[in-house]
Amino acid sequence: MIIVMKPKAAEENIQAVIRYITENGLQTHLSKGEEVTIIGVVGDKTRLASENLNSFKDVDRIVPVTESYKLANRKFHPDPTSVKVGNTYIGPGNLTVMAGPCAVESEEQLLTIARAVKKSGATILRGGAYKPRTSPYSFQGLEEEGLKYMQTAKAETGLSTICEVVSQEAIDAAVKYVDMIQIGARNMQNFYLLKEAGRSGLPVLLKRGLSATIDEWLNAAEYIIAEGNPNVVLCERGIRTFETATRNTLDISAVAVMKEKTHLPIIVDPSHSTGVYKYVPPMAKAAVACDADGLMIEVHNDPAHALSDGPQSLTFEKFDKLCNELKPFAGLVGRTFKE
Ligand code: PEP
Ligand code: MN
Repeated sequence: MIIVMKPKAAEENIQAVIRYITENGLQTHLSKGEEVTIIGVVGDKTRLASENLNSFKDVDRIVPVTESYKLANRKFHPDPTSVKVGNTYIGPGNLTVMAGPCAVESEEQLLTIARAVKKSGATILRGGAYKPRTSPYSFQGLEEEGLKYMQTAKAETGLSTICEVVSQEAIDAAVKYVDMIQIGARNMQNFYLLKEAGRSGLPVLLKRGLSATIDEWLNAAEYIIAEGNPNVVLCERGIRTFETATRNTLDISAVAVMKEKTHLPIIVDPSHSTGVYKYVPPMAKAAVACDADGLMIEVHNDPAHALSDGPQSLTFEKFDKLCNELKPFAGLVGRTFKE
């Protein structure tokens, strides 16, 4: 449940409510807006008598939160969250573009791509060092060596960096080298990994599972936040449907639904959603038009010879053209494409 305090409630009255709740063994989550303060309550509500709560000074009303996710719930936190990633942020007012190769293949390859995407306007460099591939015989990633190249690319270009993690070992390595970790679609319901990501101290990009509902996805985010890490960004990357013309089906409506259900930022990955480079620009524009907070786009210096996901990767020229086309779209929804 949430306790909505009266506009301009006195601080001592807010603290009195918090004290009553914590003394009864429950946790509180405070959200202070310009006018109204909301106290979110997590725990066994049967320990609290709501008639007692109603009698506290400055309490306006008590609203039950029926959804199982609480900290990720917009009812707990009505203002949209901004998540800092290295020297940039993902959230209101900004259109954040993450770009880079599906997999880090070599230092030279990564540096070449990093320079190009930076020039076109990306602010975060993506690159997989641990690749959860469908076949065990496909390229599995350079692991820690790849993370070191990400650090080199950051030092040279000033780009912030993101890498997928697949295990505790990968998280331990990632915290040394990158600014944000990514939980991939295949691990969205790996609850132990989610908890470990929550304890990592780094912001987390949580991709939607291949067949996950929005409710399951928000509960996965809750696992991370419940460990004390509020810096979660959601990423819609397409879901499994009967359609085969595209690799997945981009559920663009998820952006609108998430804007209502959660305060967490949401970005769109048009590359994995479609699997086809030609469809990436229109889907990227659709994402911006429906107010996504950012994009994750795969870019490669030589897509025909990429070690993974070449068919959906943009060349430097195509990525540059797309970035130029996106700028006016960002302006139309009140966002700046920060470079
Ligand atoms: C990726 O971003 O490299 C990736 C593997 O994506 P997903 O988890 O969405 O398939
Ligand atoms: Mn990929």
